[in-house]
Order: sequence, then structure tokens, then C-alpha cells
Amino acid sequence: MTISSNDLDAKFKFEVAAIPGGEHILRCFACGTCTAVCPVSSAFPDEYDPRKIIHMILLGLKDRVLSSNALWYCSHCETCRISCPQNVPFDGISDALRKIAVRENRIPEDAYEIFGAGPCKAACPAHISIPGFVGMIAAGRYRDGLKLIKEQMPFPGICGRVCHHPCEAKCNRGNVDEPIAIEYLKRFLADRDLMEEIRYVPEVGEKRDEKVAVIGAGPAGLSAANQLAVKGYSVTVFDKLPVAGGMMAVGIPSYRLPREILEAEIQTIVDMGVEIRTGVTFGKDITIESLKKDGYKAFFIAVGLHVSRSLNVEGEDLPNIIHGIEFLKKVALKQEIVIGKKTIVIGGGNVAIDVALTALRAGAKEVQMACLESREEMPAWDYEIKDAEDEGIIINPSWGPRRFIGKDGNLKGLEFKRCTAVFDENHRFNPQYDESELMTLEADTVLLTIGQAVDMSFTEGVPELETSPRGPVVKDYSTFETNVDGLFVGGDASYGPRSVVEAVASGKEAAVSIDRYLTGQDIKGDRPFEWQGINYEPSGTEHMDRQKPPRLSVSERKGRFVEFDRGFDEQQAKYEADRCLRICGHQKKA
Ligand SMILES: Cc1cc2nc3c(=O)[nH]c(=O)nc-3n(C[C@H](O)[C@H](O)[C@H](O)COP(=O)(O)OP(=O)(O)OC[C@H]3O[C@@H](n4cnc5c(N)ncnc54)[C@H](O)[C@@H]3O)c2cc1C
Repeated sequence: MTISSNDLDAKFKFEVAAIPGGEHILRCFACGTCTAVCPVSSAFPDEYDPRKIIHMILLGLKDRVLSSNALWYCSHCETCRISCPQNVPFDGISDALRKIAVRENRIPEDAYEIFGAGPCKAACPAHISIPGFVGMIAAGRYRDGLKLIKEQMPFPGICGRVCHHPCEAKCNRGNVDEPIAIEYLKRFLADRDLMEEIRYVPEVGEKRDEKVAVIGAGPAGLSAANQLAVKGYSVTVFDKLPVAGGMMAVGIPSYRLPREILEAEIQTIVDMGVEIRTGVTFGKDITIESLKKDGYKAFFIAVGLHVSRSLNVEGEDLPNIIHGIEFLKKVALKQEIVIGKKTIVIGGGNVAIDVALTALRAGAKEVQMACLESREEMPAWDYEIKDAEDEGIIINPSWGPRRFIGKDGNLKGLEFKRCTAVFDENHRFNPQYDESELMTLEADTVLLTIGQAVDMSFTEGVPELETSPRGPVVKDYSTFETNVDGLFVGGDASYGPRSVVEAVASGKEAAVSIDRYLTGQDIKGDRPFEWQGINYEPSGTEHMDRQKPPRLSVSERKGRFVEFDRGFDEQQAKYEADRCLRICGHQKKA
């Protein structure tokens, strides 16, 4: 059965009177703003009218919603919800579809389309409504755009700088010319807000009695704290370091992530009522038992990877052989560091590049990198390798350390053997060497950057937690539950080295779990929930050049801890936002 919008308008007030809470629903006066702003409705005005769907949702007509064309047309951009002038208390078409279909277990056979979204939103681990916030930039509605991002994650300024942006790799605009510069657009919104006298602070729900303890003030812990604060919980975050931010504060160098951006985004979380206590070590100063005595009812542990792996080769006990992340931490905390004139960095990943560029800024005169991988196999991003080479760092691919060379107890250099293969036929790490081909490099400092592991000393605070040689055991990666009731573990410590946005996503899911745990709901519920990115190749779309933000030249940045990349100005941001196709997520029913 289909309902016309006229039918609905006429019946609306009458029917709504019978619904409990109908006074809220009556705030909708059918102004049609939702329809006017919906990009899919603009493209298919005769076929899709969000106002009608919203009325059905408000009227509780679940069957009609499920059999309506909303399932196929809604691209889940959230523009209707964020645009409603009456702030009608509905969750938006997107959320309503999800709740009705998934939570009530009424998924139609062709459910794929229900979860069809822009491929950018689907690919983002935090599932930010990217087409929505990009559309807000195009319309000059900057605060609304920021609001959309902050619903999903607290760090647009940080991720607008350091995210590996898997969203852009999937952007359908790439089928026309180049993907939308989503990362820089996010940064544009965040930086604009940070310059405002009154910054945007997300609304916090009605205060709840339960206290939640978060261990680790990295992106996973802070993201969980942020989402729990929105729900009204009292949250305390404990961290053993003197600063909050985890690897964002003591790993990622400030020339990529200025500390004032990090501090400002953390301050917003504090402004939402979250307490952050630094200098407190879980397992030494506090334990689960002591926290329970202090009234905490649920726990999220996100302690990251703060132990460096060793090489186990001859001479590794010589002085000035330092772990790269310890070195970065000392530089970030402005502690005393050792750096010689000739420095070798062992490792070929992004962390090794950060260590090498930081060594140059900390006073090394010559920095060389050496790694097992061939140049093509190096795990660091190509643009990061280029940055390093532009600053004069010499990269020696396909070499494995054989022994450290010492003289009179001092480090003099490092001997390498040729690495012929890093992985075996099963893609397992199993390096092979040709010991007849050797190379020696002189060095007075060596920085080891060959991987990190979990510092398991935290388990002294919770001895009953199940662990494996890799770290704490997570029972279910969609909920981050462990074997300990009310204790959830997330971030890098739970799945290995990944990224800021993935840590944020894990914190978000853990917050959902904690809320469900504390309110007696089924923790698993509708998870895992997977958005399906809808790909398409638009035809006849005009070519528009991707905008490039300014960047400091090598001579301007060399040896300095200044930010390399500058952001978009308003004109660039609007032009870039206009490149977005906006309707990628819709999937018209055949
Ligand atoms: C040098 C470097 C550069 C990187 N660059 C990028 C990048 O450009 N983009 C990107 O997306 N990702 C990057 N990453 C990865 C990213 O930083 C991590 O994936 C992310 O920070 C993991 O978040 P987390 O919250 O799980 O852990 P962390 O950020 O490591 O935070 C864990 C926190 O727990 C605290 N802690 C540990 N043990 C205890 C204890 N017992 N008691 C109390 N507190 C404790 C730690 O002090 C720390 O603050 C980089 C990582 C490094 C090391």
C-alpha cells in the first residue's frame, strides 16, 4: 500500500494524537525542509520524498517503512536529521531503518540495499556521515558539518591531519577524476571551529549514576569516554603518562600533528565532563578491585602498544642503541635525549620515517634508514618515504642487521646482510638472507623501529583477565568483551598496530557495549553492523580538479618542528565540497 503525502498531511494530526509522546511528534509541521535538503530527493524528486518516510516513522508505521522505497533510496547521509528546523526528535531515516530492520530482526531478503551507503562512509572505520558533512561545507553550514562528524568521533582536527583516509580510496568521484579530499575537508571544519571564541561542545545526556573507568588516554580510551559522556555517564580516564593523547601525544611528531590541535580536541572531551587523571598506572597505583571499591561499575582498557621489540643480534647491549618509540616519547615530553651525528634507523614503516625525520630535527647530522623490505615492499606510505628522501635521509632497502660493531665499549657501526625475501609463500614473516653479501654503515646512534607490543604489566591490576602471548584476549571484536564481567578491552592492545581512526572506532563500540551492559541490555544485539558502500560510475560528470592545500617547502620545514601541511582556505574547501557526487549511497530498486 502506498500513501500520498496529501493523505499523510490530512491524517497526520489526527493519527498522531493516539501515539504516546505525540506532543513531540507534533513539532513536525511538514515544512518539507528534509525533502528540500535531501540530495537523493533532489536527484529523483518524483520517486523519493523523505518527508513522507519521516511521517511514517513518526507515526510508528514500521511495516510501511520497511516496504517503502526508503530502503533503497536513503543514502544514510543524515542531512535530513541535521537540517530539521523543528529539531523533531526522530533519529533520522537512516537510524530508523536500521533500528526497525535490524533490532527488530525484520530484515527483508534483499537487505543489502538497506545498508547501502556512500562508499566513503562505509569505508571509514568510524562510519562518519561523510557525504553529509561535505554537503554542509558546500552549503556553508560549517557548524552542522562539524556536529555530524563529532557524533561519530571526537577528533576531526587530528584525523583531518593524520588519518590514512581509507574513505578516499573508495570515493566514486575517483571514477570521474580524483577522489574528494575528505581528510582536508574534515580538517577545515575542525580548524574553523578551533578558531571560534566559543567552540562546539557536543550535548551531554541526562546525568546517570553509574561511574565508568577508562584505562589509557589514547584515541581508543578517549573516544569511549566521549561517547559515554554523551550518554550521561561519569567517566574517569586514567593514564600512566604525564600527558593525555597516547601515541597521538608521544608518538606522532608535532610537525604532523601540532600539540595545540590535540590539546584543544581533548579539552572538548573534558568540557563534556570527562575527568582525565594522568600519572596513574593501572596495575601499580590502581586495580580493578580498587576501582570497584571507588564505585566504578564498568571498565574499558585501551593501553596501546608501548613496548618495543628487540633485534636479538650481537652487540645489541652497546650504548646508544635506542628504541624508536622511546626516543619519540622523550622528544615529545621534552626529556633529555641522546642523538649522535651519524644515526641509523632500523625499520621501513611509517613509524621509522617519523623516527628518522625527528632524529634530524633533534640534532642528527646524517640519518640513514635500513629495512628488510625492498623499496616497493616498504610498509611506509610512498608520500612519507618521499618526505624523508626530500630531507636528505638515505634509505637502504633489503638489508638485515647482522651485528652491532663496538670499539672500547662504544657503538661504532652496524653490519648488515642482504635480505633476499621477507615473507614466505604463505605470506608469513620469514626473512631469508644472503650472508655472502655484507654492508657496513658507521653510526654513533641506532634507533630501532621494528614493531611494538603490549606492556603486559597492566594485567597486575586484573589478574583474572585471559591473555595470550600477543596480549589480552577479546572474546568478540564487535563488542570488545573479555572473560571478565563488565571489562572491555580495545584499541591497538586488542588487535595489534593499526591507526587512530580504528582506535576511535573500537572505543565507540566499547562505549555501546558498556551502555548496554549497565542498562541490562543484550550487549551483542545487532552487531557487527556493516555498511555496504555502493559504487557507481557517473556518466557526463564535469571534470573538476581536486584542490591541493599549501605545503611548506623542504627548506622552510627542514630541521624544524613546524607543521608541513597547511589546510584549505574557505574558497578551496567549498570548491572541493562541490566536487562530491552526494548521492552515491542510493540504490534505486530495480
Ligand atoms: C610514531 C607513530 C606514528 C603514528 N602515526 C599515525 C598516523 O599518522 N596515523 C594514524 O592513524 N595512526 C598513527 N599511528 C598509530 C596510532 O597512533 C595508534 O594506532 C593509536 O594511537 C592506538 O590508540 P590506542 O588508544 O589503542 O593506544 P595508545 O594511543 O597507545 O594509547 C594507550 C595509552 O594507554 C596508556 N597506558 C598504557 N599502559 C597503562 C597502564 N598500565 N596504566 C595507565 N595507562 C596506561 C599509555 O600511556 C597510552 O597513553 C602512529 C603510531 C606511532 C607509534
